[in-house]
Amino acid sequence: CSPQRDEGWRRSPRPPPRSRKLPQVNPEQLASKVRTIPDFPKPGIIFRDITTLLQDAEAFNAAIEAMLVPIRAQKPDVIVGIESRGFIFGAPIAHALGLGFVPVRKLGKLPGETITVEYELEYGKNVLELHRDALTPGQRVVIVDDVLATGGTVAGTIRLVEQLGATVVGISFLAELPALGGRSRLPEGIVSAIIPF
Ligand code: AMP
Repeated sequence: CSPQRDEGWRRSPRPPPRSRKLPQVNPEQLASKVRTIPDFPKPGIIFRDITTLLQDAEAFNAAIEAMLVPIRAQKPDVIVGIESRGFIFGAPIAHALGLGFVPVRKLGKLPGETITVEYELEYGKNVLELHRDALTPGQRVVIVDDVLATGGTVAGTIRLVEQLGATVVGISFLAELPALGGRSRLPEGIVSAIIPF
């Protein structure tokens, strides 16, 4: 390359990217990084806001590492993330395991041929979509989302995955709201959540 370009590279004010070994953070510490906002998006809902955890490099890293522990043992072929906060956790998990990532999206966002499912939320109803060619029969799938509340969203996602002939071998959340009983709607023994609220 030319001397000028080389000179410009050396003078770059940014240090080269490097990976940092971040300290471990336990579940109680992780819980303290999630902000609680009462009456959002509707009166009576206690909203667990994960953005405060995401902006903290140590906490975000520790959350992904903790979610990876059970997922590694489940030996998935592919990670399915649920729009939109499931993407934030699902994509780095897929990357860490060297796997592909498949998005389950809200109605009207996926451009190809899709299958759909309607499901109930803690605060409303919704439709989820999955590309018809996103999974193949027999694939081992781990589903990732941020918070398990009533379990409706992930129950709908399981239906989509199974409609394509794939098998759900794991379901991973950052946090769980046990008072809402979502876990009882899901298959036994394959659900993991790092933070119980
Ligand atoms: P559910 O289908 O009731 O389990 O709801 C799960 C989805 O809604 C997750 O994707 C969460 O992001 C979101 N959600 C539901 N309730 C809450 C809550 N109280 N705090 C934060 N997120 C929530």
